[in-house]
Amino acid sequence: MIFLARSKEGNLLKFEDKSKPLGYVWYYFDKPLEALTKTLVANTDLDLTIVSGGKGETIMAIKPANTNSFKPTGSLKCLRCGTPLKDDTYKTCYTCSMEIKKELQNSPEEKEKQTSIKRQAIMHGVARTLIALQGQVDVNNVGSLIDMLYAKYQEKVG
Ligand SMILES: [Zn+2]
Repeated sequence: MIFLARSKEGNLLKFEDKSKPLGYVWYYFDKPLEALTKTLVANTDLDLTIVSGGKGETIMAIKPANTNSFKPTGSLKCLRCGTPLKDDTYKTCYTCSMEIKKELQNSPEEKEKQTSIKRQAIMHGVARTLIALQGQVDVNNVGSLIDMLYAKYQEKVG
């Protein structure tokens, strides 16, 4: 049912009801629902559990139509683009999640990390080669040998 308003005293809730002559109906609500009723936004479609009691029809439970639980208004939107989300598993919609993932991969930090990993791999290869060449290399040429090996490995590692 479409919620319309709370009564001035706050003890009744007004809902749209086309079957009624005035087009709306007032309901009492169960005391534990009081805090929730203060957060209701007009023109929200709600599912009500109503029981007929002594003073009239009383709402025993309120939840948004077509869902299983009550979620505060506004929390189920993509943080980035505002697209309504079906549930709160993710803070952003699928499109934005993918974009954020891509941006993180292309971030300077991530690139620097990749470069550092490659550099270490290259230096590791160079060091191993130097060890393997021990005794066969002219010590005076080690510097240029390292340069040469580094360039060679860089070709491979990219
Ligand atoms: Zn989004």
